[in-house]
Amino acid sequence: MNTQIIKVDPEHPDIEQIRIAAKILREGGLVAFPTETVYGLGGDAEDAGASKAIYAAKGRPSDNPLIVHICDYSQLVKISSSLPPEAKKLSDAFWPGPMTLIVNKNDVIPHETTGGLDTVAVRFPSHPVANALIRESGCMIAAPSANTSGRPSPTKAEHVIHDLSGKIDAIIDGGPVQIGLESTIVDLTEDVPTILRPGYINKEMLESVVGEVRIDPGILGKENVHVRPKAPGMRYKHYAPKGNLKIVSGDQDKVIAEINRLAEEGENDGKKVGIIATEETKRFYKRGKVISIGDRTDEYEIAHNLFDVLRQMDEYGAELIYSEEFSTPKIGNAIMNRLLKAAAHQVIEV
Ligand code: AMP
Ligand code: MG
Repeated sequence: MNTQIIKVDPEHPDIEQIRIAAKILREGGLVAFPTETVYGLGGDAEDAGASKAIYAAKGRPSDNPLIVHICDYSQLVKISSSLPPEAKKLSDAFWPGPMTLIVNKNDVIPHETTGGLDTVAVRFPSHPVANALIRESGCMIAAPSANTSGRPSPTKAEHVIHDLSGKIDAIIDGGPVQIGLESTIVDLTEDVPTILRPGYINKEMLESVVGEVRIDPGILGKENVHVRPKAPGMRYKHYAPKGNLKIVSGDQDKVIAEINRLAEEGENDGKKVGIIATEETKRFYKRGKVISIGDRTDEYEIAHNLFDVLRQMDEYGAELIYSEEFSTPKIGNAIMNRLLKAAAHQVIEV
């Protein structure tokens, strides 16, 4: 299949260009497009065939449900069987934006889109291109991240082209995304709203709107690896670079010394070594390919660069990758959730 690349201005997309992509969606085709979180791979959410094609293009397990992207609150009402009061409160506060709500579904969205579940994940994105595409197509758009299943999520059109070129109808290139981490997923089908995946909208922000919020114990890390995460997608190995990634945790001086030691050991074994450092620490590393993820004091920059850095490690061909830890105040949970998964929870404490 020839994949059409449609280049647009991310802030003011040309409506004629958007209409080309919208028509493809209406006819059952697949289009990758930028959102404020990561690039999505979209198809008509009401079309079971389009959803099946999304799973095939990504190589995604068919029990891992897709997120339905909307451009108006009324569409959430249209596809849910019942809505708790938190749905209106949270959507008023954070939509359009990087928050996904899980609600009970009715028959409008087929089970092919929800991985067989009776609940549906819904998000109203703020990105002007995503918005225009949903509006112009007249479809609600089912869209998981536009990467090959298991690989780091795409934050640039080049990442999508690398993974999906030849497998989908079109890619809208709107440049790099803003946030770089997938949406916060909030489950509204339990007594207390529960975070199934951490993201830019953190627990405190949600609590300021609806009071008590829980975090799914299945995503809390090493002590809880035996607890099954509720979001099917959080159960799979994910975000993984091709090399063996380990996180080194502890005081900065000790971390640097240990990474230097490991890098030397790896290179002496004839391995290609990659190091994920920060602007503050990169000059202390003497061996291996050192990539800075950004300024340690700017957690939004770290989030923005994370998936791109993991992909750069693949391009370099790194076989062993050592990363510093990034436990930052607001979205450190979301960053470390991705990094720990990419590292299959391998942490070296120093
Ligand atoms: P992606 O769009 O690739 O970031 O993946 C969507 C994420 O949302 C995956 O982790 C899914 O498992 C999760 N998800 C989608 N629908 C549901 C649902 N109904 N219940 C729980 N998790 C869901
Ligand atoms: Mg994904």
